[in-house]
Amino acid sequence: MSEFRGLIMDFPLTLHHFLERAGKYFPKKEIVTRTRTGVHRYTYGDYYRRVHQLAHALKKIGVEPGDRVGTLAWNTYRHLEIYFAAPCYGAVLHTLNLRLPLDQLTYIINHAEDKVVFVDASLLQLLERIKDHLHSVRLFVVMNDVGEYQTSLSPVVDYEDLLASVPQEPYPWPELSEWAAAGMCYTSGTTGNPKGVVYSHRAIFLHSFAVAMAGGIGVNERDVVLPIVPMFHANAWGLPFAAVMVGAKIVNPGPFLQPRDLCQLIQDERVTMTGAVPTIWIGIYNLLKQEKFDLSSLRLVVVGGSAMPRQLIEAFEKEYGIYFLHAWGMTETTPLGTMAIPKSYMDGWPDEQRYEVRAKQGIPAVGVEIRAVDAEGKEIPWDGKTMGELQVRGPWVTSGYYNDPRTAEAFMDGWFKTGDVVTIDPEGYIQIVDRVKDLVKSGGEWISSVDLENAIMVHPKVLEAAVIAAPHPKWQERPLAVVVPKPEYKDSITKEEIIEFLAGRFAKWWLPDDVVFVEEIPKTSVGKFDKKVLRDRFKDYTLPTAV
Ligand code: ADP
Repeated sequence: MSEFRGLIMDFPLTLHHFLERAGKYFPKKEIVTRTRTGVHRYTYGDYYRRVHQLAHALKKIGVEPGDRVGTLAWNTYRHLEIYFAAPCYGAVLHTLNLRLPLDQLTYIINHAEDKVVFVDASLLQLLERIKDHLHSVRLFVVMNDVGEYQTSLSPVVDYEDLLASVPQEPYPWPELSEWAAAGMCYTSGTTGNPKGVVYSHRAIFLHSFAVAMAGGIGVNERDVVLPIVPMFHANAWGLPFAAVMVGAKIVNPGPFLQPRDLCQLIQDERVTMTGAVPTIWIGIYNLLKQEKFDLSSLRLVVVGGSAMPRQLIEAFEKEYGIYFLHAWGMTETTPLGTMAIPKSYMDGWPDEQRYEVRAKQGIPAVGVEIRAVDAEGKEIPWDGKTMGELQVRGPWVTSGYYNDPRTAEAFMDGWFKTGDVVTIDPEGYIQIVDRVKDLVKSGGEWISSVDLENAIMVHPKVLEAAVIAAPHPKWQERPLAVVVPKPEYKDSITKEEIIEFLAGRFAKWWLPDDVVFVEEIPKTSVGKFDKKVLRDRFKDYTLPTAV
């Protein structure tokens, strides 16, 4: 074999290739950003020049190869500039989640040892409140998105002043290994402190091909791409990288994420593809019932982050002609893992069955491998019923958390343990039924808290419901339903009617042992039910069946 080695070029898969290609072949294409004063527009040509200038600027402010460059910013053209300038320069783009509690934000900046932080002026106060606890940051670079600003941060420099002070010629990019770190992002930490995930150039490069692949998301040059999912959350699902790779027009929403703003932007800029979590689409659906917008330019919407209700996929398609692609991923998987792409022969299936497939989380993207195992570590059958923990591996799946001992428990024989519990149907489509830590483990059997709470939320008197495991002397755990009634039913709703409502739908042993009514379900920074807080609150709760 050895005489054949070296007969293909050793060409590193780094982000320089995407940037240089975009600057060379698509300089006339547009990048649009919604701002407080209107709409900012420039071309890839302008973008390319500014990314090179920003690299000069990173050098000027003393950023060294491998240093972490933090960003605390909305989806804007400046954020997109750092997205390429930092990794191409050899530094590590570290996106900071602006919705995190301040103690976690502090933890993340310190843990990653960010050397500089680029911050939108509209978000300055977040950093001002924690500045005395930040140990590594040597400089704050302010991106003015408000007009006038003042800050107690120090030392600071203005982004535009910095760019104006550096050479205009192209920056001589260093030669980087494709294995060099390009970016990092911390998980939002539903258990304990957030964990750092590091993305190599190679991982992002290959992931971008998967995002651009026809038959799936298929981002291409003709697209007008609107990343609604924040650039601080799992690389905005890789959309900015893929869009620059193919030279697609990019539309950035800035901080304007209300349904009306988004619909207006889609209509004005003739957006063809976008991505956002289900809650955004629930808001948009409700708005479209009251106001008219022309969203006919949309060819595809990627939705994920939590389960997209089947009814909504169907309603959007039938009422507005908008096609949804349901996808699953994690910060740890860069993030694209699986997509519910129906197979061609499913076109002839009845609606009921087709939408059932479309509402699942799907089959893996090319490059990603998946399996699911039961409590004994044995692979589960593809019967659509048996539950197992989903495990993944692939060229853009993390192989360890950054400086974190929790890495040890996150892997099994080279597979990453996702913590998600799934079934796999005979066609290979996964369906997420729960998270491992949220499952109710009743006498060795698993009960899906998600299935129960979704069923309860269909009850006409219920606003929200979460199901958690409560300790039980005989069964170890039994389900406890925590329910928020609609205000008008606050005094009339009963435990019995909830249980009766579920009785026809689930096996008897799945039914909650108790129902408690509360004012509100606690939520995480990204709007998911915070079951950790809820479990804490009910940890000493005695079920009526436990006495
Ligand atoms: P965090 O783990 O901090 O919530 P992530 O954004 O990495 O942040 O979330 C990944 C998790 O989100 C997955 O492990 C899964 O539980 C959930 N998730 C992602 N996409 C979907 C989806 N389409 N349906 C259901 N759950 C999803």
